[in-house]
Amino acid sequence: MKILIAEHAGFCFGVKRAIEIAYEELGKGKKTKLYTLGEIIHNPQVVKDLAKRGVEVLEEKDLYKLSKGDRLIIRSHGISKKLYNFLEQKGVEVIDVTCPFVKKVQNIVEEYYKKGYDIVIVGDKNHPEVIGVNGWCDDKAYIVNSVEEAENLPFFERLCAVSQTTLIEKHWEEILQVLRRKAKEFVYFNTICDATQKRQEAADALSKKVDVMFVIGGKHSSNTQKLRKICEKNCKNTYHIESADEIMEEMIKEHEVIGITAGASTPDYVIDEVINKIKSIKGEG
Ligand code: SF4
Repeated sequence: MKILIAEHAGFCFGVKRAIEIAYEELGKGKKTKLYTLGEIIHNPQVVKDLAKRGVEVLEEKDLYKLSKGDRLIIRSHGISKKLYNFLEQKGVEVIDVTCPFVKKVQNIVEEYYKKGYDIVIVGDKNHPEVIGVNGWCDDKAYIVNSVEEAENLPFFERLCAVSQTTLIEKHWEEILQVLRRKAKEFVYFNTICDATQKRQEAADALSKKVDVMFVIGGKHSSNTQKLRKICEKNCKNTYHIESADEIMEEMIKEHEVIGITAGASTPDYVIDEVINKIKSIKGEG
């Protein structure tokens, strides 16, 4: 039996940084309450561990509960400009771990919106990152996630397009072809982040070589779901799992080459647990 790990897998730079800063903040031993806006990463184990240490998850609709001096961690997905202003007015101490790659998208959108461009965000309109980015152009962006949606856009004088950082490159390229025809003056920024691209390429390459492919990551994590989709195309025995507990003997018993990749919110120890579980089922642990 052979276990192969994708060349790029697990925590990306932005998530690693966010978690480190969160734990650093806990280590300061401050008395004021610490919150995160939404779950800091799409990983139930990490969220549970933070909860045990007194970190509470707040949804946006509950932000009114915050008092002056409370501390709030803004996760790597970022937030809208409006929300920063609201938190400032409330006197909340903001610990901002917005990923620099997401910050870059927000800055582009703000800059071109101010210059008078209409904005198109290519991505999932329900994803917190996209919702946050839209908040840098007064929530006026057109958000499209398919060629069809792009076709249905009106014709613009001046248009600026950006991408959700976790988009699949090919998907962006296809939609871009349509957007090019939709404006007199068109500027675009491929803001897909390197980490995503590298994970996707590595997952694609590995899933072509294996009998079974495990994609580890939160079931709601969009970057993990995208990895699953890529792997499924190459390997029919692809399983999206959150932890080693989900691996059943029948998934691997007939197979010799087992591949593993992991979404950007998956800590290394979860990957190690999966490796150990596979080895123990195969009697090699
Ligand atoms: S996937 Fe990329 S953009 Fe998103 S948090 Fe990680 S490094 Fe940042």
